[in-house]
Amino acid sequence: MPWLDRTVNAMLPYLPPPSPSYQPYQSTSLPPPLYQLCVKPVMNGSAVYPNGGDDMVDTVLPYRSAQLRITDDQLTNRQEIMEPGTTWARLTKNKRVTPEDWWQDVREIELELEDPKASYTIGAVCSIRPKSSSQDVERFLKLSDLEAEADKPMTIKELCIDQPVPWSLPRPGLVTTLRTLLTNHLDIRATPKKSFFEWMRRFTQDEREQERLDEFIADPDEIHTYATRPSRTIVETLADFRSTRIPMSHILEVLQPIRRRRFSIASSPEAHPHRVQLLVAMVDYKTNLSIRRQGLCSSWLKTLQEGERVSLSFEDPTLFLPKTPNTPVILIGPGTGVAPMRAFAELRIRQGEGANTILYFGCRSRTQDLFFADDWKEMESKSARVRIAPSRDQPDKVYVQDLIRQDAEVINEWIVDRQCHVYISGSSNSMPKSVRGALAWCISTESGYGLLSSEEATAYVERMFELGGRGAEETW
Ligand SMILES: Cc1cc2nc3c(=O)[nH]c(=O)nc-3n(C[C@H](O)[C@H](O)[C@H](O)COP(=O)(O)OP(=O)(O)OC[C@H]3O[C@@H](n4cnc5c(N)ncnc54)[C@H](O)[C@@H]3O)c2cc1C
Repeated sequence: MPWLDRTVNAMLPYLPPPSPSYQPYQSTSLPPPLYQLCVKPVMNGSAVYPNGGDDMVDTVLPYRSAQLRITDDQLTNRQEIMEPGTTWARLTKNKRVTPEDWWQDVREIELELEDPKASYTIGAVCSIRPKSSSQDVERFLKLSDLEAEADKPMTIKELCIDQPVPWSLPRPGLVTTLRTLLTNHLDIRATPKKSFFEWMRRFTQDEREQERLDEFIADPDEIHTYATRPSRTIVETLADFRSTRIPMSHILEVLQPIRRRRFSIASSPEAHPHRVQLLVAMVDYKTNLSIRRQGLCSSWLKTLQEGERVSLSFEDPTLFLPKTPNTPVILIGPGTGVAPMRAFAELRIRQGEGANTILYFGCRSRTQDLFFADDWKEMESKSARVRIAPSRDQPDKVYVQDLIRQDAEVINEWIVDRQCHVYISGSSNSMPKSVRGALAWCISTESGYGLLSSEEATAYVERMFELGGRGAEETW
């Protein structure tokens, strides 16, 4: 915030003077809404259903007058609600691949693309917008006194010419409901930020709540302690501030869109045409207040049944295999980071390049979380080298970087002499740095195989990743 203030103050002298009608912005005053939720008129007992045209907007009535109720299911499977670039897929597999008593639930999820023309490139990332749980939606509606409005058919109308409805919301004129908006579009499980507390401050008349909200607005540490650290959700915040209600007039502005989650695709399109395979770890942890938290997208994916539809899009790869298949590659992917490596491994085997491929995979235990074990056996049978680091299977912990160091002779030969490409994927904690450090060690004199000094080796590996196009990372 101080940075923002300084930046705005630095820009102000260069801007034209304000117009005579300009009113200084008051953080406690309620700005006029940008959008309006309008209820569809009811004709002969049934709603006028739209075909998506903007002309529908002018025929709607204020939302209070509608009688009809429609369900979320009637609305969410329609083509018109899809964001540009998204495509439908049907769930064909949702299998837990770790034992029930293992600390982490990791799932292989397979989605079959409905559109025969839809496809993705190897190494692409799949982007999915999750849904809020029905329990969260119910609770939000109840806390906001909006239960009666939840299932009325309504449309969104733009009220300001230069503020179009964001793409994350249904197009103006399309029938939706408040329940559909809260389920599919607006994030009520998000952790509130300063702007949310500023909105709440405008909506409450309760003095004690005003006082508390003023403290949040004035001091980022208060927000950190109350909201960020315990990952408190918007629904929980509303439960704490019982006198504060988000009005329908501003709900589309106050609530942020549900953020899409990205997943590295674990399948190669050549080996699994029209299918997308993902390896997804369920986010499930306890906060500093010992409250259980589950990730929005992973917990929603967990509930999906075979045959259910998911709208997804593909993002261009950040990892690219070398153009010439016989260039050697080293794939390093601990945990779910192995997902894109599995896709690459499938293609390398199909290309007959097993002998030019090494995979480093890290897990905790060979018997509990050794994902895609059958694929690695097949890879080995096709001359690929597969190195597995089960960190907890022995008294001393072993990680992928330790195996890389053990293989210093081969690593030095592949990186320096054979000019191989290296790929790292997985957690963005200390792993990528440790792996790069291990690679540098292998090609340095310290390992006994390399010819470079320690500094030269580090710079060599950095160049591979930053400039040389021989190294790439996908971490999260
Ligand atoms: C390019 C890319 C590729 C990815 N590929 C994969 C993949 O192949 N497989 C996969 O499983 N994921 C992958 N992810 C991560 C994935 O996108 C989601 O972030 C992840 O599934 C969690 O989403 P969620 O909605 O379930 O959790 P959210 O509701 O978004 O919650 C996650 C948040 O919870 C908090 N949190 C989580 N654990 C803890 C903890 N132990 N303590 C305290 N706070 C915690 C953190 O603030 C975290 O940001 C990838 C991410 C990117 C960017």
